[in-house]
Amino acid sequence: MVSLLPIRGRVMENKLVRGKWIVAGSGNGRKIIKNGAVLIEDGTIRAIGNYEKISKEYRYDYELGSEYSAVIPGLVNSHNHGRGLSAFQGGVSDAPLELWLPDLFNSYETDIYWDTLLAAFNMISKGTTTVLCHWCERDPADPMYREDLEKSISAFLKSGLRVAIAPVIHDQNKYTYSDESKILSKLPGYMKEEIVSNVEDSSRIKKYFHTITEMKNKYCQNEKLTFQYGPNGVQWCSDDLLVQIRDKMTQNKMRVHLHLLETKYQREYSKQHFGVSTISHLEDIGFLGENTSLAHCVWLSTNDIEIISQTGVTCIHNPSSNLRLYSGIAPILALLEKDVKVALGTDSTALNDDDDIIQEMRLCWLLHRLPNIRTRGITSSEILDMATTHGATAAGFGDLIGGIEVGKKADMVLLETRRAIVPYLSLRIPPLDFLLQRITHDDVKTVIVDGHVVYENGLHRDCDPANIVAELRKSVKESPSKKADAVTRLKQLLKEHYENEELEEYQIKYKYNQLT
Ligand SMILES: [Zn+2]
Repeated sequence: MVSLLPIRGRVMENKLVRGKWIVAGSGNGRKIIKNGAVLIEDGTIRAIGNYEKISKEYRYDYELGSEYSAVIPGLVNSHNHGRGLSAFQGGVSDAPLELWLPDLFNSYETDIYWDTLLAAFNMISKGTTTVLCHWCERDPADPMYREDLEKSISAFLKSGLRVAIAPVIHDQNKYTYSDESKILSKLPGYMKEEIVSNVEDSSRIKKYFHTITEMKNKYCQNEKLTFQYGPNGVQWCSDDLLVQIRDKMTQNKMRVHLHLLETKYQREYSKQHFGVSTISHLEDIGFLGENTSLAHCVWLSTNDIEIISQTGVTCIHNPSSNLRLYSGIAPILALLEKDVKVALGTDSTALNDDDDIIQEMRLCWLLHRLPNIRTRGITSSEILDMATTHGATAAGFGDLIGGIEVGKKADMVLLETRRAIVPYLSLRIPPLDFLLQRITHDDVKTVIVDGHVVYENGLHRDCDPANIVAELRKSVKESPSKKADAVTRLKQLLKEHYENEELEEYQIKYKYNQLT
């Protein structure tokens, strides 16, 4: 039986959203309105205030929420790869990034439409209303590139999510950061053939830019969908490619999103290749600005943070992924100290392998409590800014969404608070602290995007999760054993390579406590 949300919410009626708490505004202007209401008209927030007052003053077609609801802005997952079937489920066990990627590139295939739709459904059902998808399901060399990108786009549109898609591109060092040909030359020829593409980079890159322009033009009427450039990372892209992207960004008024300094080996790459840090190099080639967002940012230096702060870049914190892939812990307190905009993303590698942005917020809240009574932690309000306002900026929707404010688009999530309050909640606990500490994705009751109810009480407006799961399962194909053997051999070679490169200065950078 197909389970869909009833007809309510399909047309653009005026709605009144009621809540025990309305989490309105953002940053220093954030306030909690008790026994509040939000009036949504034509998908836009028209009024916010006391429930009795707003319900008398305005006309509306129906009411959502109750005196037990907490109404928060829609959450933004600012770095995700749109994978419904996680890498782990596809056979890629957690490992240090450099040994994880070769498996990821060669492990399994799915039907992109169902894969994206499941990812989108998972995110919506856990309170995400906007995603910045660093799309890497296909390489431009793949004959199905354009078709599969469109499949992902149509799945996102079907899901109702607001989405920014930044298709990934690289033109060097697919498997390592230096001496790639030297390492690959140690593979027997038949193994190399299994995992190395023979398509010329210039034609791949031409196709990449052409496809993005084509998609941008095709979907330019859709306010909920935007495109960004998505270079994979500095070590994977030549300067020539980065400069081309920089010029296209200016020319086409577009944003750019990339991985940055996820591991210590990437930091070392810049030192060896540019003689300066990755951030200094990006600044030198004019790549940093308010239209740039950088995922991970684990291995920044103090000077890098200064440059990031001055250039207005948004950093995206991916705590789960950084833990799972042995990357380290990003210096988020130091970034906040310099007023850097920090957003949050699951990187399709969340703690429970389920793209749960609420849990990512909690992990971020807890992770940066240093063992020192002089150092402050991150406040619950800052965490909410990361998952809303700054995420909206990273995704390129900063003018439209990011907070429950009059004039903004109505993207919001209604959380049912009763389960988390039982048996009692002291009035001494601030509401935002309570939400961050005790709410889980099971408490997500209603999700509204652009004024439309897309999810309520476990049902989606247009998608049946059981059907998505069945279709996706049918489409999964694991890689043939010849390819898997080649990857295993390559990983052995890479492990030896990195073990030889291991630098003493990085080994002593971080410890859980003062072991002596
Ligand atoms: Zn990523």
